[in-house]
Amino acid sequence: MRLKKFCHECGGPLGDREAEGRVRRFCAACEEPVYENPVPATAVVVADSARRILFVKRSVPPKAGWWCLPGGFMELGESPEECALRELREETGIRGRIGDLLGVTSSHSEQYHTVLMMGYLVEDYEGEPRPGDDALDVAFFSQDALPEIAFESHRRFVRVYLAARGNG
Ligand SMILES: [Zn+2]
Repeated sequence: MRLKKFCHECGGPLGDREAEGRVRRFCAACEEPVYENPVPATAVVVADSARRILFVKRSVPPKAGWWCLPGGFMELGESPEECALRELREETGIRGRIGDLLGVTSSHSEQYHTVLMMGYLVEDYEGEPRPGDDALDVAFFSQDALPEIAFESHRRFVRVYLAARGNG
């Protein structure tokens, strides 16, 4: 985890100081706390007509070589739904529309400390999946032969999808 080292206002070094009820990064020159917040990200469940679920094989850390749901970090000015569909398009070439919210959860991240993860079902998808820049491979997996999934938040969204829709 990489906490901020320098103040984004004045460039001065940051220390730790109690402010507003907890220890925070603090700029002594500005006499202001510098807030650290979770980073929002999305992941999507895309299922084909046989209810097989689409996974992406990661090419970059963390968990390079593992399978996960398509997804990634929100850009400035983006809605969670826009982020989810953009990441799906970038990683798999697939387009679709946002369906049910599968959950919102936070998880620990080596890089960002805490990630706020939102999971969506994507429906009416179009296109044949092909791996994008951050993916080694993309593939649909049947429910009885799912890969080992890189992230607990993604496992949770898959469980929610299977409980609600998997057998219906
Ligand atoms: Zn400062």
